[in-house]
Amino acid sequence: MKYISTRGNVTDIGFIDSVMMGLANDGGLLVPEKIPQIPEEKLQAMSKLSYQELAYEIISYYVDGEIPENDLKDLIQKSYATFRHPEVTPVQKVKDNMFVLELFHGPTFAFKDVALQFLGNLYSYIAKKTGETINILGATSGDTGASAIEGVRGKEGIRICILHPHGRVSKVQELQMTTVNDETVLNLAIKGTFDDGQRIIKEIFADLEFKNKYHLRAINSINFARILAQTVYYFYAYFQVAKETGAKTVNFSVPTGNFGDIFAGFLAKKMGLPVGKLIVATNENNILERFIEEGVYQPGEFHSTYSPSMDIQVASNFERYLYYLLGENPKAVSDLMKQFKTEGKIVVGEELLGQVKEDYAAYGVSGKECLQTIKSYYGESGYLLDPHTSCGVAAFEQRNHTGEVCVTLSTAHPAKFNESIALCDIEQEYPEQIHQLFDRPQYLEVVEADNEEISQKLEEHFRSTSVSI
Ligand SMILES: *Cc1c(COP(=O)(O)O)cnc(C)c1O
Repeated sequence: MKYISTRGNVTDIGFIDSVMMGLANDGGLLVPEKIPQIPEEKLQAMSKLSYQELAYEIISYYVDGEIPENDLKDLIQKSYATFRHPEVTPVQKVKDNMFVLELFHGPTFAFKDVALQFLGNLYSYIAKKTGETINILGATSGDTGASAIEGVRGKEGIRICILHPHGRVSKVQELQMTTVNDETVLNLAIKGTFDDGQRIIKEIFADLEFKNKYHLRAINSINFARILAQTVYYFYAYFQVAKETGAKTVNFSVPTGNFGDIFAGFLAKKMGLPVGKLIVATNENNILERFIEEGVYQPGEFHSTYSPSMDIQVASNFERYLYYLLGENPKAVSDLMKQFKTEGKIVVGEELLGQVKEDYAAYGVSGKECLQTIKSYYGESGYLLDPHTSCGVAAFEQRNHTGEVCVTLSTAHPAKFNESIALCDIEQEYPEQIHQLFDRPQYLEVVEADNEEISQKLEEHFRSTSVSI
């Protein structure tokens, strides 16, 4: 298995090199040169596996022998041993034809743990093998930061710096990131939005001299390994739900920000999993909804919403989808991305838009609807949705065709977003792990959303902290 860039100027690199490269050196995103096809009989056999066994089968296609079998099995076991549920990502039936896939049983109570526990262990494994220190740089809308820090803290050979938008993350998200007292962890709270943070790290990663000098590595979903780890639960959920309902195809409604999680579903479908519609659920930051409805991809006005982890205008992984939409033509992708840079928008014609609508449905959920959905589901079934999951459920209500079976991805535990839950007049009890955070001191620095200042902070961090391998 080889990896190539969506823009065509990186080709023929292996799995570990693709993990280490993160953002492709030509500014594009890495994708597998050929998506493996899983035959029907193999799917049958996979449907009986445990989560960890299934993860091994799927991830092996992409690692393609670069990590010895036992080491890879070990990495997977270790990564999911920190989850509080024996099934890792259990499925709950919440109403007729609608199941919630609970992705929040990991250490930081959000779905990011599924991929970042694995990526953290993988980085540590690579650091030990190569003897090279790994410096992780990431931007977060709240959950990735907490999860990445949890995934690497205390591991040998790794330092980490996370940029989060100052004052725009939930209290619990902020506490999870900033209460870690470890000199290898640097939290920078930037005066700006997540889009500013994402743009800055993309620019820093594009400065190849800086990137190479400090061995900078990515943990955002620009890293293909994250997408890969996330395809596993689409398979797992499909198998559980198909068994229970007898459905042949299953739709998925996915709360979406950076298009990473839903792209993992697209990949699962391309591998041969009988996925029906992929429903893109957004909040008022609805660039993706507008693209899927009208074929115009253009950032709009930024909104702070009840679902802050989806307050994103420019969806990083969208370029991966474009690559497949345009028939795996890197020249066409480069042209469109150039157009996006100069004109601030991408427009696709009728024919392509038809294809987009085959692949996806979309619904942008208003703040009011988000809270209403939390209230009504809590009232009717006693099931408490977090505000992101609530967007997924509201989109299911609007876009799933009657009679079709749908899985809504639950991307976070409601305790992470009590600000929104309290507005629904619902009182919840924090799990003990979250409760404890409130008494701890916080470690963070507030900085301008400025590349220069942030690069300097990074250099200081790398110089002043030592790590052992
Ligand atoms: C990150 C996140 C999302 C969005 O996921 P993408 O992969 O960026 O689309 C949705 N919900 C929660 C709770 C998140 O943390």
